[in-house]
Order: sequence, then structure tokens, then C-alpha cells
Amino acid sequence: MAKFIFVTGGVLSSLGKGISASSIGALLEARGLKVTHIKMDPYINVDPGTMNPYQHGEVYVTEDGAETDLDLGHYERFVSTPMGAKNNVTTGMVYKTVIDRERRGEYLGATVQVVPHISDEIKKRIMEVAEDFDLVICEIGGTVGDIESLPFLEAIRQFRFDIGRENVLYAHVTLVPYIETADELKTKPTQHSVKSLRAIGIQPDILLCRTKCQLTEPVKAKLGLFCNMEKNEVITARDVKSIYDVPLIFHDEGLDDLIVKKLQLTNACPIDLTMWEEISNKIKNPAYDVTIGIIGKYVELKESYKSLYEALNHGGLANNCRVNLRWVEAEDIEKEGEEKILSGLDGILVPGGFGQRGMEGKISAVGYARTKNIPFFGICLGLHCAVIEYARNKCGIKEANSSEMNPDTIHPVIDFLPDQAKETHKGGTMRLGSYPCKLRKDTKAFEAYGVREICERHRHRYEFNNQYRIQLDEAGLKFSGLSPDANLVEIVEIPEHPWFLAVQYHPEFKSTPRKPHPLFAAFVKASMANSVLSKASGI
Ligand code: GLN
Repeated sequence: MAKFIFVTGGVLSSLGKGISASSIGALLEARGLKVTHIKMDPYINVDPGTMNPYQHGEVYVTEDGAETDLDLGHYERFVSTPMGAKNNVTTGMVYKTVIDRERRGEYLGATVQVVPHISDEIKKRIMEVAEDFDLVICEIGGTVGDIESLPFLEAIRQFRFDIGRENVLYAHVTLVPYIETADELKTKPTQHSVKSLRAIGIQPDILLCRTKCQLTEPVKAKLGLFCNMEKNEVITARDVKSIYDVPLIFHDEGLDDLIVKKLQLTNACPIDLTMWEEISNKIKNPAYDVTIGIIGKYVELKESYKSLYEALNHGGLANNCRVNLRWVEAEDIEKEGEEKILSGLDGILVPGGFGQRGMEGKISAVGYARTKNIPFFGICLGLHCAVIEYARNKCGIKEANSSEMNPDTIHPVIDFLPDQAKETHKGGTMRLGSYPCKLRKDTKAFEAYGVREICERHRHRYEFNNQYRIQLDEAGLKFSGLSPDANLVEIVEIPEHPWFLAVQYHPEFKSTPRKPHPLFAAFVKASMANSVLSKASGI
């Protein structure tokens, strides 16, 4: 039977609970165990699909097409187990199931309550992911003390009683701030947060203390004393430059041994951290560096483009190169012109997005990259922008009356599929999850992937409008990847450009530091070549 680690957060948000949970997963996987993850989100939305990226950050899409919390992205980047719809549970999902059951009369007249009905449903969903795994790492969203997360905390409290003390661990991620004027690390916020946890019946077994500097032995002893824990159960989770160092610093603090001992994981092997050490070394000692511009709409909130940011770094890893990012607000291009905003970039990327705002700025960025021979990578909406730019400026295909246009794409070359009901465009008709794609030989796409058939993850409503395929092909835009029935355009590229490629899917969701995505690796490589060229010519 699987054993369980529950990860809660204290004091404040953004302490890196997701990275901590993922790093625990990576460590235990490096000890030969089969690990999976589950994330509990205390909001009432059934899934984050409809949420504004400003509030929630990126919506991460799994192979099976679930729209999930971005922490699932971290899990997939750190642990080799694929995530799916079952690995993300929200309050909304739980209540919906319980209320639907109540309406069907399945509670046989009972009063339906948070305890036991909601807590039972939560426990059931945790159990559902455990099959065939040695260890389940369950992260509870939010911060201890929030009212929304109480049913989840109650459910995980009960869990230990249901399946036995030796099978469950509680790890609490907390903040130990350094106060400069006193030159001291302060333990009080952690003391209070642990007190709140204990008030609801959960005594943490492990404290992961986020700090600027290493916790000294006296600080660990003090935290232990006030939080009712042994000194060795207090782990320093010191700030690091790269998230991929976290498994290594946790190991240095003895975390994997502690977990193996406490949970009596008798099948754990000696640790093999070679892969993480290699990744860490490569990140620290890059031989080259490039600057890539991301032309987006939510650029002030980096969380909105989490997987993209990671995938570009992985692309750098594959080329021994540091990737510096310049986040560009698309509307600034509209206001101030391309040259001012985009000059000096080695590569230009237009990522996915929704809505019309900033579209013209993104389209100008495509034109700038195309005409100046700067490597260009378009993703989803980025493909739409690329095709619109080409249609307008190379084929003279003009916009129809704008009131007839779809709200996201402003040009007839990108549209709904004929059988897609236009009225329902706000939901239900998105193409979500993994779909196959066939690559044409002698293309940059094939050169990067090295295989003819691939599968990639989608999240969009609009598609390339096939009515324009011949016209654009004749004008030099190549359709290098198509759905197996050839009905859907998945990849376009310009053969005579140094590297100009746009995809209808989201390759960033499949990139990991272990296996950088081939298109990100190829894009970074092309940007490096461009950087060398422009330096040589003194531009
Ligand atoms: N808004 C576009 C569509 O729905 C693009 C979506 C995206 O970039 N993920 O098709």
C-alpha cells in the first residue's frame, strides 16, 4: 500500500510549496520509489480553466486534457510520473460531486455535512491516485489559517487515523525571516503557524523552513522546542538561484533519509542524484548566453507563463547556454514601435494567449522577426499571429468587416472549425490535451524532433482556416506538421528564414530539465547563432 506525505503551507503564500513538494518527489524517485503527486486547491471553481491568469497564474494542461493548477507542471518537471485530471482536486469539484449525489437521493435522507461527507469525498480522491505507487505527495493549496482550506486539512487529519500513523507524514513549509536590524533569524511566524495547525489536530513531522541563510543549530533547537519537534526534523529550505537545486539542498539536509526512516520505506534504494547534479552544474556554468523576447499580455505576472519560462531554460540547458528573457508588453509595441522595443533581441517568441488586446503588437513583432531574419517561435495564439501577418503582408489577404470576425483572432485565416458552434465559444469547444501530429520531411520541425510522428498538448478554440492553405503555401509559408487526417494545421514555418516556426499546440507543457523539448532546444540554438552573427557584424 502507498504511503502519504501531506504538504501544507504556513505564514504566507509564494514560499515555494509546489517546488518543495516536487523536490521531495524527485528525491524519493532518486531512491528508486514510485512517486505520484496530487494538488488540492481550496477555490470553488471546478477547475482553473476559466480563471484569469493574472489571478491564478498559468493554466497547466495534462496529457488527458485537464486544465489544472500550475503546480502540476512542477510535478511533471521534477518527477517522471505523468499527471492527469485526477491529480488536481478543487473545492468546487468536491462539492459538485457531493451535491449531485445528494440530488440523486443517494444519501438516503441523511443531513449532508462537511464532516463526514465532504471530508470523505476528499479522502476518496486522494486514495484514487495512490494505486500502484509507493508514495503519494499531496499538497494543500493556500495557507494554514485560511477558512477555505479547513475541509482539506480536516480530511488529511483523519487520514492518519484511517490508514495508520506509520503511513502518513505531515510536512509544513514555513517562513523564517531574517531581520537585518537585529541580524537575526526570527522563529515567531513559524511558531504561530504550527500552533494553528496543531489547533486543528495536525502536528507536523517535518518543518521545511524557507530562509535566506542556513538555520543554525540553536535556531533549529528553538523551533523544535516551540513546535514540539526534534531538531533533525527542522530542515533549512534556503533560497537558491535555480529551482532545480532544491532536491540537492534537501538531500544535504538529510530530508530523504528522514522520510525513509519515518515512513519505514523499506524498499528505498541508496540515492542516485547524478541527474540533478548534472542539471545543476550545467545551469551554473553556461558557455554562452542569449536574450529572447517574450511578447505577451500578462508579462508583469511571470506565473502566467511558468511552463514557458521553464521550457526556455531547458532549451538553454540543451545548448549549454543561459537564456536571458526580456518580457515585452505587446501593447508597448503598438505605442512605441517595433524598433524601439524589439531591437537587440536574439530571438522573438509569441506565446499563447486569449483576447484581442495586444494582438496588433504581437503581429508587428512577427513581421519584425520575419523581415529582419530574427529567429521566431510562435505558440498557439503565436501561430495565429504568424499566419495573420503572412496573409496580410505576403498574400494581401485583407480582413473582412471586423464585426463579423471572431473576437480573438481578427482575421479570416484563423477561425472556428466548421462544426464548432460559434455561440458556445466561451466554453466546451476547446481542443484540449494530447493530439498526434505528422511531420513533413525536410522541414525544421522534423530536423528538431528527428521523428515523423509526435503528440503534443493543445488548449485553443481557433484553428488555421483551410480555405487559405493553397494560397499561403504558394506564397512560401510551409505547413510542416498536420493532424494525421491532414485536416488540421499544427506547424507552419518559412523555409528561407533562418528559423521561423509556429505551432498550434503548447510544447512548453512537455519540456523537462531531464528532457528539454526539441523545439525549445532548436529555437535557443538558432537564437545563439543569430547572436553570434549580430555581434560579428556589430549590430
Ligand atoms: N485564443 C486562441 C484560441 O482560443 C489561442 C489560445 C491559446 O493561445 N492557448 O484559439
